[in-house]
Amino acid sequence: MKAHSSRVGVFVRIRPTAHFSQDLIECLPDGQTVNIHHRKDSRKPQDSRKSQLSSWSFQLAGILQDVSQEELYARVCRRVVLGALDGYNGTLMCFGQTGAGKTYTMTGSTESYKQRGIIPRALQEVFQEMDKRTEHVFSVHLSYLEIYNETLVDLLSSLQDLPLSPRGMVVVEEPGRGVFIRGLSLHPVHSEEEALNLLFEGEMNRIIGSHALNRNSSRSHCIFTVHIESRSRTLSVAKYVTSKLNLVDLAGSERLGKTGSEGQMFKEAMYINKSLSFLEQAILALADRRRDHVPFRQSKLTHALKDSLGGNCNTVLVANIYGEAAQIEETLSTLRFASRMMCVRTNPAVNEHMDPAAQIKKLQKDVHMLKEELSFYNTLVNRPRIMYEPLSEAQLAEIHSQVQRYLKGSLEEISIISIRQVQAVFAQFKLAVQEQEQKVKAQLCQTFNLMEKDQSAYTAAIKEWDTRDSTEDVEALRPSSTKANTKMSRDKQSKRQGEGSPVSRKRLESASKSKLNSVQTPEREQESQEPDTESQDTQESQPPGNEPFNPDSTPSKAEAFEDFKVGRGSKINRILKENKAVLLERRSLLRQLTEEINAVKREIDCTTATIQQHETRGGQGQYLVMEGEPVLQEPDGTSLMQLRELKALYRQRYEVLRDIKAEVNYCQHLVDQCRVRLLSEFENWYKMSFLVPEEELDITIDRTLEQGEDNQWLLPDSSSSESFYNARYRTLKRRTALSFTPVQRNSSARSGQRRLPSILPVS
Ligand code: ADP
Ligand code: MG
Repeated sequence: MKAHSSRVGVFVRIRPTAHFSQDLIECLPDGQTVNIHHRKDSRKPQDSRKSQLSSWSFQLAGILQDVSQEELYARVCRRVVLGALDGYNGTLMCFGQTGAGKTYTMTGSTESYKQRGIIPRALQEVFQEMDKRTEHVFSVHLSYLEIYNETLVDLLSSLQDLPLSPRGMVVVEEPGRGVFIRGLSLHPVHSEEEALNLLFEGEMNRIIGSHALNRNSSRSHCIFTVHIESRSRTLSVAKYVTSKLNLVDLAGSERLGKTGSEGQMFKEAMYINKSLSFLEQAILALADRRRDHVPFRQSKLTHALKDSLGGNCNTVLVANIYGEAAQIEETLSTLRFASRMMCVRTNPAVNEHMDPAAQIKKLQKDVHMLKEELSFYNTLVNRPRIMYEPLSEAQLAEIHSQVQRYLKGSLEEISIISIRQVQAVFAQFKLAVQEQEQKVKAQLCQTFNLMEKDQSAYTAAIKEWDTRDSTEDVEALRPSSTKANTKMSRDKQSKRQGEGSPVSRKRLESASKSKLNSVQTPEREQESQEPDTESQDTQESQPPGNEPFNPDSTPSKAEAFEDFKVGRGSKINRILKENKAVLLERRSLLRQLTEEINAVKREIDCTTATIQQHETRGGQGQYLVMEGEPVLQEPDGTSLMQLRELKALYRQRYEVLRDIKAEVNYCQHLVDQCRVRLLSEFENWYKMSFLVPEEELDITIDRTLEQGEDNQWLLPDSSSSESFYNARYRTLKRRTALSFTPVQRNSSARSGQRRLPSILPVS
């Protein structure tokens, strides 16, 4: 069932008295508001006339004055008790100073039926309702826990012939089970009478315990819990819901100083104050939605009530107060606690569980039924029996052979028998593809065993180039058409040969040691500064390695681009670099500014939250000035001022951010423009410098393909075979005497005439 958010229901019950202080306690006709007017006593007698009359207004779910036990139950408890039968946890708590009527409200008189309290009425309702809900099977267990001076006492342990003393019980949490008290006895009950017997037994033990230990029974917290489990008779047996109905009679909340107690009494009061103040802290944390930690473990009381205060629980608090003027301070403090509790929001949700064993049984039954159904259907349509069991070895072998025959062409089709068989056929196909792949790879490696090594050298060289320059430039250089791909592959191939331009050699040095040994390292810096002369200066040794390749080769586009950037395109490249630097600087400024603005935004949120919190607290006891100085503070003026300043700062920084953003966009535009220009100039230069007639290229490739030679290596997506093929093509091409000899700046002198990149006039 879906959880819905609701508030804790807080009611105030005023103990009947002949001396009700009309002046100090004002109950408004709306039945939900109580105003307290209190003249605070000044400690100094001479100031007594100056004492201030302050007023507080508390808005609660209901003010119960001269209300019978029956009406109180109907108005406050019935909803929670019925919710527990539906699977919602419920908590009913009585809070207030000693003698204000907590026990009377919770347990009531054990002598008078009419004056019985919440617990006996709730038990009656639970059993009556269970009888009505015939479609469910319920089971009910009871437990009765007392917390005295942080010691857990089982008030029903006497029923198990166990001593009444504490038995080392401990509050524990388990996933799926929530919070529970290990060691606390749980008693199954089947009727209202059985349940009441346990309640009275517990009450008796409470009194006996207090006598034996010489303490007042009002000095302990008592939690009477009804544990309910319900299973539907009609719906799934695997699903069941559980709930806990906690009926809590808290210890007297009066302040330590007022009791004037000593010795044991002092100790009791101290424990009570401590646990109640922890309860208050937990409630404050629960009310503050921004807090993700609630200090439940600080006391046994809060820990035991961890899943019964907020969370998915229906929670109701009855704040018991005196009507007499003498108790006004305690009354005020009780009402403050009550109004804080009002802020706690809960999300009641049904505690649904699955019984795994029952679920498995149910699923097995379902599967069996479905199989029967299917076989019945197959018989009707005359289909063979369906296999449910996994395929046998023999069946798998047969499928394997079918697939093999199908691939070879000796079997025309594989008929579909069952889903299992189709899956097995697919698996066999996958296996066949993988095997084929492995075979081809192995064959390739065997035939051209240096290919992979060269390819890795090439990859390393490209990587280095990539890291040295903007990746965007490289991206732009990457060709998109197939034709361009072929060209690029030729570049790659020339690079593999390692004898390209000085640039390629330098890069391959780091990529391949063997190549490093075979070439002489040129003075790269010098070369890049004198692009016009370098090609003639460098007289190189033979290219490394496997000789079928002709050392004469056009430099790859990437290498040529590198040269172009330091030579012909140096001017535009410099401008591009400068623009890039500005862009980077602007971007970092933008980042910095964004961070700054976010920090201001966080501060604004923080301050707003503080102000809101202040307002919420104020709302718990609305401030009314009757006379004299205010007692409750107004929302903090400095916070408001700070918020205003922060907002102004935010607006101002935001405007700067907008400007910087515009600048970044503009710079980006400039950089893009430069890049496009650099690339287009390079393309022109490259074409002019290393032009290879495209038609000729295509014809040669076609011709080679026609010859059928090594066609088998032209596998799709096999970049290594493609590179290899391109290398062969180039060798062929060179042998067939091309119309011109492409430039090879660092090739040996024997290559004779070399064509230099043409230098275009700088525009
Ligand atoms: P607490 O548990 O808060 O210390 P009790 O419930 O023991 O206080 O109440 C103290 C006395 O006041 C009891 O004798 C109780 O019967 C009586 N009392 C409290 N509230 C009411 C009420 N609403 N009507 C009648 N008697 C009450
Ligand atoms: Mg009591």
